[in-house]
Amino acid sequence: MMMTGVLAITAGCGQKKSDFKYLLDEFADLKVMRYQIPGWDELTLQQKEYAYHLAEAAKWGRDIHWDQNCKWNLPIRHTVENIIENYKGDRETKEFEQFIVYAKRLFFANGIHHHYAEDKFFPECSQAYFKSLMEAVGDGDKCAELLDIIYNPDILQQRRSTSTDGDIVVLSAGNFYEGVTRAEVEKYYESIEDKTDETPIAYGLNTKVTKDSKGNIVEIPWKIDGMYGPAIAKICQELKLAAACAENDIQKRALGLLVKYYETGDLRVWDEFNIEWVKDTIGTVDFINGFIEDYNDPLGRKGAWEGYVNIKDHKASERSVILSANAQWFEDHSPVDPRFKKKECKGISAKVINAVCLAGDSYPSTPIGINLPNADWIRKMYGSKSVTIANITHAYDYAAQESPTSTLDEFAWDDAEKAFYREWGSWADEIHTDLHECLGHGSGQLLPGVATTAMGEYASALEEARADLFGLYFTADPKMVELGIMPNKDAYKAEYSNYIRNGLMVQFTRVELGRPNTEAHMQNRKLIAEWCYEKGAKDNVIEKKVRDGKTYFVVNDYEKLRDLFAQLLAEIQRIKSEGDYEAGKNLIETYAVNIDPKLHKEVKERYEALNLKPYGGFINPDIVPVEKNGKIVDYKVVYNDDYLKQQLDYGRKYGAL
Ligand SMILES: [Zn+2]
Repeated sequence: MMMTGVLAITAGCGQKKSDFKYLLDEFADLKVMRYQIPGWDELTLQQKEYAYHLAEAAKWGRDIHWDQNCKWNLPIRHTVENIIENYKGDRETKEFEQFIVYAKRLFFANGIHHHYAEDKFFPECSQAYFKSLMEAVGDGDKCAELLDIIYNPDILQQRRSTSTDGDIVVLSAGNFYEGVTRAEVEKYYESIEDKTDETPIAYGLNTKVTKDSKGNIVEIPWKIDGMYGPAIAKICQELKLAAACAENDIQKRALGLLVKYYETGDLRVWDEFNIEWVKDTIGTVDFINGFIEDYNDPLGRKGAWEGYVNIKDHKASERSVILSANAQWFEDHSPVDPRFKKKECKGISAKVINAVCLAGDSYPSTPIGINLPNADWIRKMYGSKSVTIANITHAYDYAAQESPTSTLDEFAWDDAEKAFYREWGSWADEIHTDLHECLGHGSGQLLPGVATTAMGEYASALEEARADLFGLYFTADPKMVELGIMPNKDAYKAEYSNYIRNGLMVQFTRVELGRPNTEAHMQNRKLIAEWCYEKGAKDNVIEKKVRDGKTYFVVNDYEKLRDLFAQLLAEIQRIKSEGDYEAGKNLIETYAVNIDPKLHKEVKERYEALNLKPYGGFINPDIVPVEKNGKIVDYKVVYNDDYLKQQLDYGRKYGAL
C-alpha cells in the first residue's frame, strides 16, 4: 500500500535551511523536484556500499516498468531519446519546444499514458513535424507504426481501462494481458487458485497472461530466464553484491531469497522473502525491490515493478518510539468517557525514513508513505513495515515555498498567520500525523457486544475523524513539550489554523464543482472544521472574514478550539464505542458532505489563478564511488539538477530491454 501526495496542495511549510534548490522544472500539469539525503554522511562505508548496490539494483528495473505500462513505451522512448541526443536541426522553434514537453511528460509517466489519470496524452507539435524529426535521426522506418500509436486518439486510450460497458482487460493498454478476455483470465485463475489455503500465494503477481499456439491460456513468468530476463539478471547481479555487504544476517537471508525468487519465479519464495524482510527492523538501510503494487492492473493481480532504497531517520523515528512508550498516559488523559478507554494501551511505532533512490513504479512520481508487504496473511502472522518518508515530504514543502504562489499566501488571513505557519507549521503538522498514526487509531475501545462493522459506510470517515481529533487535542498538550516532542507551547497553533483553513476551504480545490465531498479523509476534515465553526460561533472561536470579495476563516481562540476538539472526540468515541449508527450518520450527513456552492466556486477560482501544478515527481541524487589507489574509500552523493539529463543517462546506463 502506498500513501500518495498526488495532489500536492500543501501550503508550503517549514523554514528552508539552505540554498539548495528543490523545484527544478515545471511543464504541463507536472513539476519536477529533487530531494536531499540527510544522514548519508553518518553511514559507515559498508552501509554506503550496501545502499549503493541496492540503488543500482533498483535502477536496473526501470525498463521493466516501462514495458509493463504498455508494450510500445520502450520503442517510443528509444526514438525520443535518439531525437533529443542526435537531432542536428533548429532546436529554437516552437515545435521543437512542444516536442521536448512531450518527451518530458513521457519520461515522467514512464510511458504514453498519464501516470495518474491513465489517459493517453498527445504531443502539441504536429505529426508531420514529429515525422521529420524521426527521419532526421535515421528512424524513418519506424514512423508508420509508432506515430499512429502516439497520435491516434482511438487506440490504446487508457493504461488501465475504467470502461463500464467494455472488457477492461481487452481495453487496457497495459502489458499484463494480450489476446485474452476478462472472462478467460478470471476463469483461468479460478481454476488454479486453492481457496482452502490459509497462506495463499499472490496468484498472477509476476506474469503476463496470453494464449499459446493451441489457444490455451498461459502465464509468461517475469524471471531471469523468462520475460524481462536481461533486466532481472542485472538486478540479481547487484542484489548479490549488496548481500555481500549487508548490515546483518536477516538482510543477507532476505536478499538470497529475493534472488532465488527472481531465478525461479516461485511465488512461495516471494512470500518467504517478505517474511524475512519484515523481520529486519534493526538495520539502517532498507529497500523495496520487486513486483509490488497491483493498482495498474484492471483485475488487481499484476505487480508493477518497483525499486526503493532508504535509510532510517533515527531521530525522527525516536519520536514515534517516545509516543508509543507513553501510550497509556495519553489514553488515560484523553477527554473521552472512561468506559470507552482501553485499560491497557499499546502504541504503534512507525519508522521514519529518508529516500536514497526511487525507481520503477516509484519514480519520478513517488509516495510519501508505504506499508508493506501486501499479503494479508503475512501482515497478520508476521506484521508489516509502515514508513513515512521524511525527505520527500520536506522536499514537497520546500519546493512549494520556491513557487511564486502558494495556497498559504492565498488563503491565510494576514502576514502574522503566514509567518507563524512558516515557522512552526511543518513541525506541528508532522507531530499531528505521528499522534494520529501511532496513538489515535489505536485508542479507545468498543463496549462489549458492539460489532466493529456497526458504523457501516460511515466507518472510515468517522475513524479518521477520531484519530485526527486525538492528534489535534494532544498536539496542544503541555505533555508534548515536556516529552521534548513539541518545540514550545504555542507551535500547535500553526496546525490548528491550518487545519481549519483546509477543512473549511482549501481542500475543496480537489472536488469538482457541483459534486459533494465523498473521500473519507476529506469528509473527516470537513466534519471537524464545520462542527467546530458552528459550535464555536457564539464565542466567535472561528471567524469568517471577507476582504476584497475573498473569504477567510480565522481562529480567534485556540484554547476554546481545543475544547471543541475534545468535545467532538468524546462524542465520536461514544458513537463508535456504543455502535450508534444513526448519530454517526447524522454527523457525516450534516457536516461532511455538502459543500456551499458559492464558496466552492470561489475556492476553485482562487486556486486556479495560482496556477500550481497538481502533480509532482523527483529526480534522484547520484551515488558515486570514490576511488583511491584502486580501492573504493567512500560513496558520495551528487545532487543533479537536470531532469532531462537524468532520464537520458538512465536510458544509456540502465537500458536492459
Ligand atoms: Zn488514519
